Amino acid sequence: MSFARSGGELHVDGVALARIAAAVGTPAYVYSWPDIRCRYRQVGEALAGVRHRICYAVKANSNLSVLARLASLGSGFDIVSGGELERVLRAGGEPGRVVFSGVGKSAAEIGFAIKCGIDCFNVESVAELDRIIEQAQLLGLPARVGVRVNPDVDANTHPYIATGLKDSKFGVPPALARELYRRAAASPVLDVVGVACHIGSQIADVHPFRAALAELLELFDALEDDGLTLRHLDIGGGFGVSYRDETPFDLAALGKSLAAALAGRDVELLLEPGRFLVADAGVLLTRVEYLKLAPAPGYRNFAIVDAAMNDLIRPALYQAWHDVEAVAQTGAQAQRWNIVGPVCESGDFLALDRALAIEEGDLLAIKCAGAYGFAQSSNYNSRPRAAEVLVNDDGFAVARKRETVADLMHLEALV
Ligand SMILES: *Cc1c(COP(=O)(O)O)cnc(C)c1O
Repeated sequence: MSFARSGGELHVDGVALARIAAAVGTPAYVYSWPDIRCRYRQVGEALAGVRHRICYAVKANSNLSVLARLASLGSGFDIVSGGELERVLRAGGEPGRVVFSGVGKSAAEIGFAIKCGIDCFNVESVAELDRIIEQAQLLGLPARVGVRVNPDVDANTHPYIATGLKDSKFGVPPALARELYRRAAASPVLDVVGVACHIGSQIADVHPFRAALAELLELFDALEDDGLTLRHLDIGGGFGVSYRDETPFDLAALGKSLAAALAGRDVELLLEPGRFLVADAGVLLTRVEYLKLAPAPGYRNFAIVDAAMNDLIRPALYQAWHDVEAVAQTGAQAQRWNIVGPVCESGDFLALDRALAIEEGDLLAIKCAGAYGFAQSSNYNSRPRAAEVLVNDDGFAVARKRETVADLMHLEALV
């Protein structure tokens, strides 16, 4: 949306990407705030018929400026660690709009979240429930909980990001959930407020959501029979984006379907979109260091760039496809290239077999990199992590400085 060509050059919200590269260097992540805001509003509009709260999944892109701006729009947050909670607080997010997911919450994280007064722990096991009770008793503070149910719904997505099948580590089966609710309701320190699920990521259509909501509603009704009235239903995140030629996720259909299923019920719907809000709003900006031409037929052409798998691991980890565009159109002849980084792994590629007209020194934009890009980056090969730039209606600013090698070593000692 915000990334467009003007005079042959790729711009973001009217700012030339070449200008950003000149000012900040490469590799750099560049995010369009107007794009994220637009996506956030799209979700709100699609769900206008339902009392709802968007809890942005922080792990998709946890940059403080992104979180702060989402908080200013009234967003809630879905967190999976104490570190993410600290980020949300630093960014001015409201603890009362935070839900805490994840199978491995530590005692320290639980205690911290109780003290902050988060809205709800999405409990994923009996043992976790007991630990929350213990922490709440220790602190003498109440904790609000819901159970994350595993509805055994096939989200038709990559196995690493399918989370709602019965052999998954996430959530508990509905039958066990009812037992957990009984246990939670019996505890004087717990307030039982919701039920949650999250069935996977990069889900293409609304059917799995409808199926999951049906499971949640069945449990909701069973709990009413047990004398327990929940305040919210949390349908999770996972709305897909179009990396290549995937049909755009039909938000309007989702809204309609969820509204119909919830008609006549006095319950708040929670949604936890991550990728959907930020993926398309970001690019990874990188420069071509070398062109390594195929020496003979049967060999490959390599464009070696200054970004690598440590900056964007999705192609290596999920066989993900990211569109690649040359920032400027040059006179070079189009050829097919494997776009690879300097890391010493054959899995270090950003894109394979792409037709591009490029020369050494050219800038490339790896598209749709705003989600699970920087957030999954590492320092492998002692590579400082990339800078992050946020573009607003009135220009751009560095939202996270490029790391230095000194940053990488400062916790180490010569022992
Ligand atoms: C990762 C995650 C999300 C967000 O998933 P997206 O595909 O980025 O929308 C939401 N909820 C939970 C519990 C998650 O683990």
